[in-house]
Amino acid sequence: MRISAAVTATVTTTVIALFAAASPAVTVVGAQGADAHHAAAASRPDLIVFITVDQMRPDYLTRFLPQLTGGLGRLYRGGAVFTNAFQDHAITETAPGHSETMSGRFPVHNGIAMNSAGVNDTTVTLVNAPGPGASPARFRGTTLTDWIRAADPDSRSLSVSRKDRGAILPIGRSRSPVFWYATNGTFTTSTYYATSLPEWLDAYNATHRPASFTGMTWNLLLPAADYPEPDSVPIENGGKDFVFPHVISSDTARALAALASYPWMDQLTLEAALAGVRAMKLGAGPHTDLLAISLSATDYIGHTYGPDSREQHDQILRLDRALGAFMDSLYAIHGNQNIVFALTADHAVAPYPSQHVVDPNAGATYVDVGPRVAEVRASLQALGVQKNAFAFSDGVVMIDRAALAAAHVDADSLVLAFRDTILKVPGVRRADRIRDLVHADTVHDDVARRWLHMFDSDSVYALVVTLTPYSYWGRAGGSAEHGSPYDYDAHVPMIFYGAPFKPGKYAERARVVDMAPTLARVVGVTPLEKIDGRTLTAAVR
Ligand SMILES: [Zn+2]
Repeated sequence: MRISAAVTATVTTTVIALFAAASPAVTVVGAQGADAHHAAAASRPDLIVFITVDQMRPDYLTRFLPQLTGGLGRLYRGGAVFTNAFQDHAITETAPGHSETMSGRFPVHNGIAMNSAGVNDTTVTLVNAPGPGASPARFRGTTLTDWIRAADPDSRSLSVSRKDRGAILPIGRSRSPVFWYATNGTFTTSTYYATSLPEWLDAYNATHRPASFTGMTWNLLLPAADYPEPDSVPIENGGKDFVFPHVISSDTARALAALASYPWMDQLTLEAALAGVRAMKLGAGPHTDLLAISLSATDYIGHTYGPDSREQHDQILRLDRALGAFMDSLYAIHGNQNIVFALTADHAVAPYPSQHVVDPNAGATYVDVGPRVAEVRASLQALGVQKNAFAFSDGVVMIDRAALAAAHVDADSLVLAFRDTILKVPGVRRADRIRDLVHADTVHDDVARRWLHMFDSDSVYALVVTLTPYSYWGRAGGSAEHGSPYDYDAHVPMIFYGAPFKPGKYAERARVVDMAPTLARVVGVTPLEKIDGRTLTAAVR
């Protein structure tokens, strides 16, 4: 145990040293200095830093607030905090969540409805790294990056994430510097953007920082008595390795592939972003530059151990510390205080159906409709219809109307018959056609509204299926999950921090699509197209 604690301490020191290394002459500015300057400055920001935490529930901020002494605590205490903010769409997954952050448009308008049809693109490859090709080919329209660049072509942007979709979608279609982590331990991009990496990223990759975590131990940051959660909870991590300390593989290749599930991944993502900020001189003025960062460790750890685990508590504390060091470093790099931070999440998460700690999730169950789907596909195949003419994923029935018509199968009758069947499955609450939902009361029926923010026609997406609250798709024994249209998955943190914003807690209802127009307002640019969000004027000075 003593050895583990020492290892942890060394890692933290190394990271902070690395953050400060490039500007030895500049003193790191603390929270108070930065805040004082915020009050004085009122000019256009030199840098917007848009941080998306993957799978972050807003109650982590309040649950752990007394222990949040780093960046999360600083943003929460000193920022404009929207406490009723939502990813107001039904399929609360990473790709649709990130598609809204800087576009101001719902998936129905930006084209990114689900992870499985997100950034995956077999026509491109990664640069000097293994892994699936990824691009914004399905993304439609523009983002804050394009709006700023239309007003000032010399504005630069940079996006860095663990995940391809977390890096790509906030930026949209522009061929900006967009980088994500590949499991060989390097940050890379795809041939959609470039055929080689910039010198600064090659240099960062050459430090082999990810490999330095091989064999490391993840121990608690604080004394065990500071964590009210039980540590030994066998439902976590599929029943294996669910008690601290957690030791990453001592085999380098395995450790590099597993790093995403350890808090260190967020530190590495922030380090790579900071290397880019220095090399590109982002925020040095006189332009407004943009830095998008998506931090994924919270998602992996949340899936593995659940939102009520001691592991997730510790991850949030470590994220808080890493963000604090990162903010200090940004302020120090150019000696520049004119930075705006925005923070949200792509989605939140539900507890395991069998675990009842914080959420009112009694009655939650697992729902497996696989056999019902297989029956339909088998009957269609018997009629000579290719089996993909009827598919089910993420709660959505997708049909190929042309293929069904060619086999003289009436698509609408097929869909309605499947609806009757699936509504009898325990745990299924409703199954709607988009053509019926357009008549729903979208003010009071959150579920209907959120589905309509995904799809506007049922020509392909024939039926959308909603489970009872807190229930999971699939079978028992898997990871903790998100993806439903309910508030526990849709309610996310939303914070704006910096001179243009009035600090305080705002209880008005806000949506993540409101963030891009709000940031556009403080930069003094206008969206290039019709958007779904509105400016949150109450928080803007
Ligand atoms: Zn996830």
